[in-house]
Amino acid sequence: MGLEHSNRKGRKMNGKVFLNFRCDCQKSHLECQDFTMTELKSYFTYYYDKLTPTARIVFLHNCIEVVETKANLDRIAKGQEPKDRSSRIYYLDGRHVCQQLFIKTFNISLSKINYLLTNKQTADGRPIAIDYRGLNTNLKLDREHVNFIEQIGMGLPQYKSHFTSKSVKYWHSMLTWTIVFQLYLEKVSSDHPDWMPVSSKTVQHYIKLRFPKVK
Ligand SMILES: [Zn+2]
Repeated sequence: MGLEHSNRKGRKMNGKVFLNFRCDCQKSHLECQDFTMTELKSYFTYYYDKLTPTARIVFLHNCIEVVETKANLDRIAKGQEPKDRSSRIYYLDGRHVCQQLFIKTFNISLSKINYLLTNKQTADGRPIAIDYRGLNTNLKLDREHVNFIEQIGMGLPQYKSHFTSKSVKYWHSMLTWTIVFQLYLEKVSSDHPDWMPVSSKTVQHYIKLRFPKVK
């Protein structure tokens, strides 16, 4: 491709090249062999030519499904930390492929995927799919985008406490800002693929403006 792009620390990296990688998966649940090399290359080209760095993060999130064990789901439902290793399903154009074919098609490292999918924040407390530009344009977001964020806020499960007469609503205890932000990323990429997603902080900012009492 020869296109320049920045890594997550903002350094310029050399252009990526298409690897022409072919796996020899024979597992019946994998559809790796269904793809022609031309198709694989078209995904690579799409990824680097058509997507902004932030849109690439959203794209990768949408291509990878993280599957939790039953025990983990029970823990999460109780507000506890998951203990078991989760597994991942990789999709190319909606078809299940192996991890190798997925990362080689985009010529990205497994550590990049691990970084994107971890729910932990960076050492200085920034969320995963941060859009550095979004942080600086917090208050300049157009009204349509703000409405979109507020609609997500309104759709979140809330309840009114039975222990107080005040009309204060609370989030469901399972909801974290990471989950709210993931929801936003999914919705913005499906409903408005042409929009530049904003940062987690910006999403939080507008939801808190609309629901100041929500904890
Ligand atoms: Zn494969």
